[in-house]
Amino acid sequence: MKRFLTFDDLKTMKYDEIESLQNRKFRAFIRYQVYPNHPFYRRLFKKHNVDPFDLQTPTDWAKYGLPLVKKSDYKENLREFVLNPQQVEGKDRDPAEVIRNLLDYYKEAGYKQERSYVFNRGLKVKLRIGKEKATQELLEHIKHQYSPRFFWFSSGRASGLPSPVFLTHYDNELMLNNMAKSGKMAIDPFVKEGFELRAMNLFPSAPHLGFFGVDGGLLQMADFIVRSTAGGAISTDKLIQLAELFKVTGFAAMPGYLRNIFCREMLVQKPKLEKRGIILLAGERIYDVVIDDIKEYFAEAGMTETRVIGGWAASETKIGVACQCQEKGGYHNLSPLAFAIRFVKFTDDAGNYEFTSPEEGGYITIFHVDGRSSMFEGYLMGDHVDKVITGKCPHCGLEMPCFFNISRESEIDAQMQVMGIAEEKIKGATVNLTALRESLLAMKETDEVQIVVSKAKPSDQYSMDVLSLNVVLKAGSDKTKTQRTIQKITKTETEITPVIHFMDLESLLEQAGGLKFQEIVDSRVKPN
Ligand SMILES: [Zn+2]
Repeated sequence: MKRFLTFDDLKTMKYDEIESLQNRKFRAFIRYQVYPNHPFYRRLFKKHNVDPFDLQTPTDWAKYGLPLVKKSDYKENLREFVLNPQQVEGKDRDPAEVIRNLLDYYKEAGYKQERSYVFNRGLKVKLRIGKEKATQELLEHIKHQYSPRFFWFSSGRASGLPSPVFLTHYDNELMLNNMAKSGKMAIDPFVKEGFELRAMNLFPSAPHLGFFGVDGGLLQMADFIVRSTAGGAISTDKLIQLAELFKVTGFAAMPGYLRNIFCREMLVQKPKLEKRGIILLAGERIYDVVIDDIKEYFAEAGMTETRVIGGWAASETKIGVACQCQEKGGYHNLSPLAFAIRFVKFTDDAGNYEFTSPEEGGYITIFHVDGRSSMFEGYLMGDHVDKVITGKCPHCGLEMPCFFNISRESEIDAQMQVMGIAEEKIKGATVNLTALRESLLAMKETDEVQIVVSKAKPSDQYSMDVLSLNVVLKAGSDKTKTQRTIQKITKTETEITPVIHFMDLESLLEQAGGLKFQEIVDSRVKPN
C-alpha cells in the first residue's frame, strides 16, 4: 500500500480505486491508531457506544450516531487530540502492546515494508538476538512516527494563546509530499512545452501551514526557489528586485498581499519579468476580480501568460491539501490518502446532520486516514462548498471530485452553530473573534467591546482588512495604558494590530444600531 499517491497516480487512477484505498486506510487508522491512541475520540466512541470496527467508511460516522467535532471541541481539548500510543486512559501502556498495535495497524493498512521492519526487530528483542540494537531501532521508529517535532498555530483560543497543531517527522514527510503536488498541478499544462519553475515564496514567515507548506513543497519540486517571505525580513521593493534578478516564474502568495502590496509596488518599480509564469494563491478566499487584477499587473511587468491557481488547506488538514486545476475552477483533494473530504448539511438546530449526495456540496468535514500527532475525524472546518462535480474532470483528467466556491460561513451566528466559535480570516490569519472579545472583556478597565472587521478602503472591497475595536472604558480607567494593553492582547491572540476607538456606551449602542447589540460585526462586502 502506498503512503501517498503521486500526481501521476492521481491522473491515471479511477476514483473507485482511490476511494477503496482511502476506505481501507480509514478503517485501519480508526481501529489501530485513533481508537487506541487518541484520547478524545476514544472517549467519544465509548460515550456513543460505537465499536470502532463497525466504521467502514467516513460516512458511517452518521450511521452510528457520532456527532461532528467542532473547532471549539478541539480548542478546549488540545492535548487530547494528540495520538499517544504510550498511554491509554491515563495509564502507561505496556511497550509490547504498543508494538502489537502498530503491527496490527501496518497489516490492516497494507504497509508491508513497515510491518516487516517492526516485526523483525520485535522478534530480535523477544529472542534476545542483537536485542540492544533492535530495541534502539524500534524506539527510533516510534519516535519518528509519534514524537511531536514542531507545531503551527490554528487560531486563538479562549485562554489567550493560539492553539497549536502538532506534527511529527512522519507528518512532515507526508505534508511536504502532498504540498509539492499543488505546485505540480499548477505548472502541469506548461510542462510539456518545457517550463522551468523558478519559484518565490511570498507567504509571511509565521508559524502557519501557509509558509511552511509552500516553502517545503517548492523545495521538493521547483527547479529553483527564492526562499523569501512577504514583508518583515525583506521589504517588498527588494523582493521585486529578487524576482527580476532570479527570473522567477512562480509566485506563491496570499491574494490580499499580492494584489494590494506586491503588485502595487511592481507598478512603481516596473521590473522586467519572464513571459510565462504561475501564481499560486492560498490563505484567503480568492475572488475572480482579484485574479483579474493580479493578471493585469503581472502582464504590465512583462508576464503576459499567467496561470493563477488556488490552494485550499488549513492548520488542521495538516498533511493534506486541495488545489484548483484551472483558473477560477473547482478544487480537487490532492491528498486522498492523507485525509478524506466529505460534505454535510444540518437537519435541525441541535447539530443533527447528514452527509449530502456528492453533487450537493455542503459543509467541509475532514477525516484523517493517515498522519500522527494532532489528528481530526468527523471534523467541521467551517467552510462551505456550493457544488461538487464527480467523474473525470474535463480540465485535468483527475477523477477526484471537484468542488466549487469554497466560502467561510460569513454569518457570525451561523458560525457559532457550525464551529462553536466565530472565526474570520483577517489579512490571511484565522482569528478567533469570540476568544478575543472574551479576553478584552476580562480586563478590569473595559466595560464593553465591539469587534468590527472592515476594509481599509470601503470603496475597494478587495483592499486589505482592518480589525477595529470599539471600546467602552470603565470610569476612572487610564486610556493610554489601557490602549497599550488592548493592543498587546490583540497582537498576541490575532497577530494583527487593531485600530482602537474609545467611546461611551450610548454612542456605541447607537452606532451598533437596532435592538440587538452586535458583539462582532464583519462589515466586509462579500462579493460573489
Ligand atoms: Zn480538474
